[in-house]
Amino acid sequence: MTSAATGSACATCDQYVQTIEIHGPEQLRRIVSTIRAAVAERKLRAVDGQAAFVDLPDFLNLDLSETLPDVLAYRVECMACGRAFELSCECYHGVGGHWQPI
Ligand SMILES: [Zn+2]
Repeated sequence: MTSAATGSACATCDQYVQTIEIHGPEQLRRIVSTIRAAVAERKLRAVDGQAAFVDLPDFLNLDLSETLPDVLAYRVECMACGRAFELSCECYHGVGGHWQPI
């Protein structure tokens, strides 16, 4: 992470720098798929060990065809600039969650 992150552009992760409110499981699945594609393209990488309070599968092993966990939280980083992003969802509250840069 550079100290001059504010206002700086990164060609790798700029397209992901937005806050998205998640309102349901189908939207969550789409966002997870988008992030996974970015990981596969080596734009983003999943960061381990950010959700020790719940027993979550690895981000890349989360099975989207099954019932999703009641609570999930993952952090990913830009491979180029190190900007961090958070994906979290409290599905059991019915309030969805969010994707956002942190
Ligand atoms: Zn970046």
